[in-house]
Amino acid sequence: MRYHSTRGYAPVLGFEAATLAGLAADGGLYVPEAWPRLTADEIAALRGASYVDTAVAVMAPFVVGALTRDELRGLCVEAYARFDHAAVAPLVQLDARHWLLELFHGPTLAFKDVALQLLGGLFERVLTGTDKHLTVIGATSGDTGSAAIDALAGRSGVEVFMLHPAGRVSDVQRRQMTTVLAPNIHNIAIQGSFDDAQALVKRMFGDAALSTRFALSAVNSINWARLMAQVVYYFHAAVRLGAPERAVAFSVPTGNFGNVFAGFVAARMGLPIAKLIVATNVNDILHRALSTGHYARGEVTATAAPSMDIQVSSNFERLLAELGGRDGAALAAQMAGFDSARAMRLTDAQHGGAGALFASDRVDADAMAGAMHWACARAGQVIDPHTGIGLAAARRALLPADVPVVTLATAHPAKFPDAVERATGVRPALPSRLGDLFDREERYVTLPATFEAVSGWIAERATPSA
Ligand SMILES: *Cc1c(COP(=O)(O)O)cnc(C)c1O
Repeated sequence: MRYHSTRGYAPVLGFEAATLAGLAADGGLYVPEAWPRLTADEIAALRGASYVDTAVAVMAPFVVGALTRDELRGLCVEAYARFDHAAVAPLVQLDARHWLLELFHGPTLAFKDVALQLLGGLFERVLTGTDKHLTVIGATSGDTGSAAIDALAGRSGVEVFMLHPAGRVSDVQRRQMTTVLAPNIHNIAIQGSFDDAQALVKRMFGDAALSTRFALSAVNSINWARLMAQVVYYFHAAVRLGAPERAVAFSVPTGNFGNVFAGFVAARMGLPIAKLIVATNVNDILHRALSTGHYARGEVTATAAPSMDIQVSSNFERLLAELGGRDGAALAAQMAGFDSARAMRLTDAQHGGAGALFASDRVDADAMAGAMHWACARAGQVIDPHTGIGLAAARRALLPADVPVVTLATAHPAKFPDAVERATGVRPALPSRLGDLFDREERYVTLPATFEAVSGWIAERATPSA
């Protein structure tokens, strides 16, 4: 399979190169040149399949030419063996029509493990036997950092430098990163905000001196392999609820449009999806874009669902490219307009095309807490604030009565114990394997939020690429 940039000018790459590249050289994002399709019979054959078997069937067409089916299976077995639940992504029924798809049984308790555990193995496979050395630099407001660190700790050929805003991630989130003492992991607390950290990372990627000396790589949600791994659980869940004969709706708490774009890919591949509900918190750029056709940045408001506190949704570009007929030049012009004006209009084709599959909702703090309370009181399920946003939107969505609605449960409630306790009266406990998190040794450095300080610190420690 070959991968093209959404903006049309960057080189066409194979699967491995597209995975390592992250952002394309023209500023676009990589997408497969065509969407593979599974027939109804092939989807029906996934009934009763294990998570790994489903993963191999769904992902194999995307890695043709780079990995054999057996190699792909080996990577999936390794990635999902680290999950705490035998089903990997269990479905839990809430009432006659609402379900939770629990995606938080991985090592760091957020759905990002589903993709990053696989990505860790993929990186190592690509690098083993070469003298290449990869330098991963990332900024995190919490969940991405811990998931990437866990996935890459101790792997050969990769060094990780993860920036987080000092004092602005939760204690659980910080400790999940800083107690990983593997020599290839470096945590940097930046004296600034998440936006400052992100801006530093962007500048390092654009810096000629750094990027010629080191093979820089990103693990944020624009990475194609991450999206690909997320397509799997849409199939796995829908088949268990009656697909391909019955269409299923999904409600997805989203910020960067990554998780819900994976649902769009599943639909393109032939999975019957009745609706994809894009659930945002009050940082509602996606809800405004989908409901009015006007994509416009706002100011970020801090909420109890911090992994969705985002005002520019990187992966939205992939949807705009698809619905705009893959016209790279037109998309590049549209995105340039957005960069300068901080706002743009969707074309009629983009707005109308999105409306056919997506619905959207903006969930405020009261509605979120209401959904968390309902899940606890009525179904005995303690859910985290991100999942609460998704469930609130799911329960308000207007859908035919016979369509099952699956809310993606993206984080374990114990990651956000204060918000969960406020909404439900229950204080969730960390799973026992993390019970000693607060006794473990931490290691990180605190640096001022300047390019010189951070890039200098990294350059002294990173391994030059071959
Ligand atoms: C990252 C994250 C999200 C948002 O996912 P996107 O792919 O950015 O839409 C939602 N919930 C949790 C818990 C997350 O960590």
